[in-house]
Amino acid sequence: MHLSTPPTNPYTKDNPLPAKLLENRVLNKDGSSKDTRHLVVDIAGSGLTYKVGDSLGVYCCNRPQVVEEIIELLGATGNEPVTVARVPSPVSLRDALTSKLSIAGPTKKILETLLAKTANPAEKVRLEALLAPGAEELRETFLGQREFIDLLEEFPGARLSPQEFVDHTRRLMPRLYSIASSPKLYPGQVHLTVAPVRYESNGRRRYGVCSTYLADRVTRRKTLIPVFVAESHFGLPEDGTKDVIMVGPGTGVAPFRAFVQERVATGATGRNWLFFGDQHQATDYLYGDEWTRLLAEGKMARVDLAFSRDQAQKVYVQDRMRENAAELWRWLEGGAYFYVCGDAHRMAKDVDAALQQIAMSQGGLDAAQAVEYLKKLKKEKRYQRDVY
Ligand SMILES: Cc1cc2nc3c(=O)[nH]c(=O)nc-3n(C[C@H](O)[C@H](O)[C@H](O)COP(=O)(O)OP(=O)(O)OC[C@H]3O[C@@H](n4cnc5c(N)ncnc54)[C@H](O)[C@@H]3O)c2cc1C
Repeated sequence: MHLSTPPTNPYTKDNPLPAKLLENRVLNKDGSSKDTRHLVVDIAGSGLTYKVGDSLGVYCCNRPQVVEEIIELLGATGNEPVTVARVPSPVSLRDALTSKLSIAGPTKKILETLLAKTANPAEKVRLEALLAPGAEELRETFLGQREFIDLLEEFPGARLSPQEFVDHTRRLMPRLYSIASSPKLYPGQVHLTVAPVRYESNGRRRYGVCSTYLADRVTRRKTLIPVFVAESHFGLPEDGTKDVIMVGPGTGVAPFRAFVQERVATGATGRNWLFFGDQHQATDYLYGDEWTRLLAEGKMARVDLAFSRDQAQKVYVQDRMRENAAELWRWLEGGAYFYVCGDAHRMAKDVDAALQQIAMSQGGLDAAQAVEYLKKLKKEKRYQRDVY
């Protein structure tokens, strides 16, 4: 068999492709409390390649309003030159705050600087309390609810210089998004499924930097977004006759849309089984039309849905797995590959626990054997997770 060398991407994390956004569509229907976007990024003619399971890395910008507020709070104009670590020459404060530095996540270090610099007695008392030995919990809670802008507002007596402020911040890192398309079906495009992060803390509306940059601030067909492909070990079995079980609630569905597109395009004969969940079927069934069509065409063997708020009792994907324990076990014993994508904090743990229970109830294993069983699946790459 001839093994071809995979093409090397001309664009990388250090040399990203400036790409345009072709589409930005809300996937949720009217009346939903969720906002999930289908984004299409144009990579046509660039030579950038990807495989299903990979993610797209996106460099983003901070919100201009917050950048301007920080500049004002610093008593600066924004034109002051500042030195940023690993940036070869000085840039303006505005440029640094817009695209080079993270203006969220302040640490203890800035509290120490504010204490050293402030001449205001009330500010000193407050900062000393936060920095006192044994105040770790108080300090962590305080910092957890704040971004740098809050500190500049709350401790105006400290008056940091632009460079002093910059020296307390970290680099703004690119964010990764699971690719939701197969290059075989959509050559020249990368599809993403992005949930803009919006919440409130310490009396301020907060916005996730990259997700709201993509959802709210990128102008379609105009703004050039620096992107790169982050290769992943998360991927389909080479053998298309293998069955795949995919658990992807919410934005976790993204790579599975790509998986199924790829399997259909390559004529893979293995069966596809998706577990999807969100709040309400009527408004939050992401790519629902596509799944329904694929089921009707026999290209999906099963789609099991868990809409948590459609009935009094909450139902999640792991509940649907348990309800289908016998069938799921038959698939696994028949050599199926099992995939999980999405929320790492709760969902992926609950799914892992459900899988372990299924191995016990259906396979007659004890707890230790079930753990070993899952370990073996992982080793054989038949249990893969892409969680965040
Ligand atoms: C491999 C991989 C694949 C991914 N795929 C996807 C995907 O397909 N779709 C997708 O939408 N995301 C995906 N993500 C997540 C994505 O990379 C970003 O982390 C996400 O979009 C948030 O980034 P942001 O810049 O918008 O928010 P940030 O500015 O980074 O802010 C997020 C932070 O805000 C805080 N926060 C968020 N909500 C609250 C709240 N309610 N209360 C208090 N604090 C809060 C938390 O500290 C959180 O870490 C993926 C991540 C990885 C690693």
